[in-house]
Amino acid sequence: ALSALTIDELTAQRDAAQRDYDALVRRGLSLDLTRGKPSARQLDLSEALLDLPGGHTAADGTDCRNYGGLQGLAELREIFSGPLQVPAAQLVAADNSSLSLMHDSIVHALLGTLPGAERRWADEPRVAFLCPVPGYDRHFALCERFGIELIGVPMNAEGPDMDVVERLVREDPQVKGIWCVPKYSNPSGVSYGDETVRRLAAMPAAAPDFRIFWDNAYAVHHLTDTPAEIADILALCAESGNPDRVFVFGSTSKVTFAGSGVSFFGSSPANVAWLLGHTAKRTIGPDKINHLRHVEFLRDADGLAEHMRRHRELLRPKFDVVEAILAKELGGTGLATWSTPSGGYFISLDVLEGCAREVVRRAGEAGIALTPAGATHPYGNDPRDSTIRIAPTYPEPEELESAILGLTTCVRLVATEKLLA
Ligand code: PLP
Repeated sequence: ALSALTIDELTAQRDAAQRDYDALVRRGLSLDLTRGKPSARQLDLSEALLDLPGGHTAADGTDCRNYGGLQGLAELREIFSGPLQVPAAQLVAADNSSLSLMHDSIVHALLGTLPGAERRWADEPRVAFLCPVPGYDRHFALCERFGIELIGVPMNAEGPDMDVVERLVREDPQVKGIWCVPKYSNPSGVSYGDETVRRLAAMPAAAPDFRIFWDNAYAVHHLTDTPAEIADILALCAESGNPDRVFVFGSTSKVTFAGSGVSFFGSSPANVAWLLGHTAKRTIGPDKINHLRHVEFLRDADGLAEHMRRHRELLRPKFDVVEAILAKELGGTGLATWSTPSGGYFISLDVLEGCAREVVRRAGEAGIALTPAGATHPYGNDPRDSTIRIAPTYPEPEELESAILGLTTCVRLVATEKLLA
């Protein structure tokens, strides 16, 4: 480990890192590791969608060209019922973005009254959400936009620290929600353990209208032969006497076309009726032609699994490249730790405390764009200044290799500078 070196040895390491960094800057790279987008080759897997649907009639005879059908096509809901662990009758298939369903759910909770609520969230003196960290920056931004307070909660290998969550939810009636990405979480790749899910479903809540925002964005995005299985939160909430506690979200953004997919909302019958009641005021119905296209393309749950296997063939080598370079360049140095996810879209890299911002800045100057340090934390503020999110899916493998190698150079440079300071 570098911390065990003498000043002279450390200086030599710093000088070597500086030489590597100067060479990196001279290469004039322009690489982007910022967002978890599917690559063009992944999008090609769904090219056949552009020629679908072959007809316009749904299984029940509905003419999909026309208005109506607020809950979305039943046959599409059937396909995603298993993967999202929501009975098809309690699942809504909507338009192209689950983030917009999360947005709308919050707006409707602010301006309408949730089942079980005493008043609208807009009439509460304060509304707070728990944010397991590291987490997804767009969840945090959505809350900030509506003045919802963000309270960070540490993540461990089994999900959020449940002792902290249980205490905050039990003691503070203004804690109205928690963000969860339960499978292959963004960015650490953690999948929630059964006990975590059980405790989330069963814990006492001071707020009668407390909601778990269960964003299962990576429900079918496996990178190994042993897919993660998570406990059925909706069933556990019902069994625990909290049937209305959870909103389940998901989408095909990283299954078919990001931006032209289908999103899903699943919950208790009361919550589904609540959402659809409000949704009926903003739309006469979703894009059922797109629903039909997805049904014809994916066919059934097996078709979906097979399609995701093709994604995995493209993604696995990229995650392997990142892990191999991190291990070779930083393994045993004590300068960083990183996640080895078995699904999802991200790798989380933790560098020495106080170094993440500077690493991202140096990488940017060398033409490697990274998600801003701090983005994984509420208000963009990582108190340890340590976590960097790596999104390896979009670049081609050769570009990815250059970018990660360059990133490790920045980690070595910034860390040796700090150890010498
Ligand atoms: N939720 C998580 C955890 C994500 O990582 C992303 C995209 O990166 C989204 C939601 C966005 O979903 P959608 O495209 O369905 O709006």
